[in-house]
Amino acid sequence: YKPLVAVVGRPNVGKSTLFNAIVKKRISIVEDIPGVTRDRIYFDAEWLGQEFTMIDTGGIEFVDSDNHIFSSMRYQAELAIREADVILYVVDGKMGIQPQDQEIANLLRSCGKPVLLVVNKIDNVEQEMNMYEFYGLGLGDPIGVSAVNLMNLGDLLDEVLKYI
Ligand code: GDP
Ligand code: MG
Repeated sequence: YKPLVAVVGRPNVGKSTLFNAIVKKRISIVEDIPGVTRDRIYFDAEWLGQEFTMIDTGGIEFVDSDNHIFSSMRYQAELAIREADVILYVVDGKMGIQPQDQEIANLLRSCGKPVLLVVNKIDNVEQEMNMYEFYGLGLGDPIGVSAVNLMNLGDLLDEVLKYI
């Protein structure tokens, strides 16, 4: 058994990019079109000798009774709450807080699992002040990262290790 680290958040915040950066393999499809993750969503990763399994919940899809494929953020979050040992809740530092961010934050706040609030797209120091509004989600100190520039991922993973 390896600890399970789940990545949760709205479409297009950079979950797949972050997932790829951490597992160091390009296995999730990264797209500008929201909601495009069509392949493997589980992958084993390692940091400082500690192994864990990452899951990109943005790639979890459902087929309803009419055979429509869809993905539901709420369901993805509930699944993460049930299964994960640590939840990485990813938000978009360029967009700021969106109504759906607040909704999912409410769900995560009282879930009893460790939740790390990851503000992605903090690509340079000038953008660091974009992080502060995310204190408003009530999930503690935001961790600013840039998944594309591979910035601050080590600090994020250090935090993850505290909980697994
Ligand atoms: P997902 O839907 O949450 O999985 O998001 P993706 O990983 O597919 O990324 C959505 C878009 O955001 C893509 O165009 C990425 O290149 C872009 N993106 C991801 N991470 C960053 C980042 O750290 N900085 C910036 N500027 N763009 C990013
Ligand atoms: Mg994705």
